[in-house]
Amino acid sequence: MNIQQILEERGAKVTSQRVALARIMFSRPQHLSADALMDLALQAGVRVSKATVYNTLNLFAECGIVREVNVDGKKIYYDSTITPHHHLYNVDTGELTDLPTDAVSLTDMPKLPEGTEAVGVDLIVKIRERRG
Ligand SMILES: [Zn+2]
Repeated sequence: MNIQQILEERGAKVTSQRVALARIMFSRPQHLSADALMDLALQAGVRVSKATVYNTLNLFAECGIVREVNVDGKKIYYDSTITPHHHLYNVDTGELTDLPTDAVSLTDMPKLPEGTEAVGVDLIVKIRERRG
């Protein structure tokens, strides 16, 4: 992925911070919260503010190079994998893992409103340690 080119095509400024954050984000397939990306940046010696991390992640999402996964209305993970897939979310540990689309079969799709078509189904299966 050429982050410079992607940002330029979008008319967004190419800054060393954006490039450094992209390098971390796309170093491997992962789901990162803004806080986690901030920590990794600091560990890598990249000096960024929290606002820059948030703005950059929003920009990456607008560019379509990360996918936002909103697990509970509060916590957002940024997914470096943008091909269609579902997720398992452990509410005890906060761990988010991928589920391939073929791990789930949807046999009864709801009837869609007239004149519309489905463009995707994002499923988050929420799990926790079994109790009792
Ligand atoms: Zn994912």
